Amino acid sequence: MATKQSLLRQLPAIGVILENNRIKDLQANHPHSVISEAASEVVQDLRDTILQGGDRGNEKCEVNAIVDMVVKRVYEKTRPSLRRVINATGIVLHTNLGRAVLAKEAVKAINDVAGNYSNLELDLHTGERGTRYSHIEELLSRLTGAEAGLVVNNNAAAVLLVLNTLAKGKKVVVSRGQLVEIGGSFRIPDVMAQSGAALVEVGTTNKTHLRDYENTVCEDTALLLKVHTSNYRIIGFTSEVSVQELVKLGLEKGVPVFEDLGSGILIDFGRYGITHEPTVRESIAAGVDVVTCSGDKLFGGPQAGIIVGSSELISKIKKNPLTRALRVDKFTLAAMEATLRLYLDEEKAVTEIPTLKMITIPRSELCLQAKYLAGRLQEKIRSEAVIEIIEGFSQVGGGALPEENLPTYLVSLSPSKMTVNVLEEKLRQLEPPVLARIQRDRLLFDPRTMLDGDTDIIAGHLEKIIEMG
Ligand SMILES: *Cc1c(COP(=O)(O)O)cnc(C)c1O
Repeated sequence: MATKQSLLRQLPAIGVILENNRIKDLQANHPHSVISEAASEVVQDLRDTILQGGDRGNEKCEVNAIVDMVVKRVYEKTRPSLRRVINATGIVLHTNLGRAVLAKEAVKAINDVAGNYSNLELDLHTGERGTRYSHIEELLSRLTGAEAGLVVNNNAAAVLLVLNTLAKGKKVVVSRGQLVEIGGSFRIPDVMAQSGAALVEVGTTNKTHLRDYENTVCEDTALLLKVHTSNYRIIGFTSEVSVQELVKLGLEKGVPVFEDLGSGILIDFGRYGITHEPTVRESIAAGVDVVTCSGDKLFGGPQAGIIVGSSELISKIKKNPLTRALRVDKFTLAAMEATLRLYLDEEKAVTEIPTLKMITIPRSELCLQAKYLAGRLQEKIRSEAVIEIIEGFSQVGGGALPEENLPTYLVSLSPSKMTVNVLEEKLRQLEPPVLARIQRDRLLFDPRTMLDGDTDIIAGHLEKIIEMG
């Protein structure tokens, strides 16, 4: 048996590794400093393994094997940290996976303004300075029925801005049943405190009546706030004051109504067999003065906070210096405009905006896609796993439609020679990483959230994992 000393002596010098042709080829696309750092680290790791009596030290000392390790490490060091992944979890708006996938038109719009100059703040008719919000304001009005609108960084920013502009130093009345917390620590009471407005809670967790609001409104009340309970439901012995009632009270008392809708919905989901969620247009039609919502939840666009409402209030909001701090960049505006344009034709919106398409996709289509994936897996790894199609549910996610279980077909995989956890981990570590759902001893792939070409990548990955054992 080779002694530790002789194993250490067999390790090639860094210089020898760097002279290897495969390593030299790397230099065309990778910085020299990274390559030599990778080589040093690999040799150091081997040295440590040998000193600790690692049993595989011997075979790994072969130069070719070491070059393999260096190449792999160089790729790991130089690939982007933020990169695409394949979402086979069936959660359409997965906040950890970047929420909404943009429509092709939106991606193209970003691409056009990113690598070129644009008329971001230039009025091409007059040649004079314009505003960045002008590109979307008319579309927002047309699609929501509101007089005016703008977008900021996200809905959290939108709520902060509305409260700060319209209620700083004054009181905002909200039901105790609507003091929501959204993932990523957005909490209504905290945002309220940051805005400088004072929260006045009315009613109870399960029941709030119109008289609760009536009894509370006073001279100092700047807003009546309604928050959509996007990510939870209060059920049982409950009552809530409707938007219509709140608007009526607001008119009587001369206090504007502000609604935080959460998910920005512009279509009637009820038409597609999914629970009806209040749309922005419905709130505006009911007479709500200002509505805010997210751009990257059910709206299916870029991360943004959409604010629409009366010209009078929106113009106050635009003048708030905080708006400048929360302003969106040209990429967001480009994607937002393109997405809004798709909504001008609802049929187009539902087929071209991935979020809407995924939520409304017919079950028969999901069944076909599941069969196709299962077939591909049968071809590649039939003898190594039990592959089945089972019925199950997908979820909307992103703190929207919390009770909605969307029926789907799942491809279930039970590997025969490794645990399902090991398989899941390996899939997550290939390029592009694949995220699937573990349920008991099975790995589940939901075609609902898979995009064109994902099936072949998943099949290829699984074949590779099985080959390598
Ligand atoms: C999601 C949500 C927010 C926060 O929106 P972001 O765009 O994530 O900042 C605020 N309020 C409600 C009701 C929400 O559902």
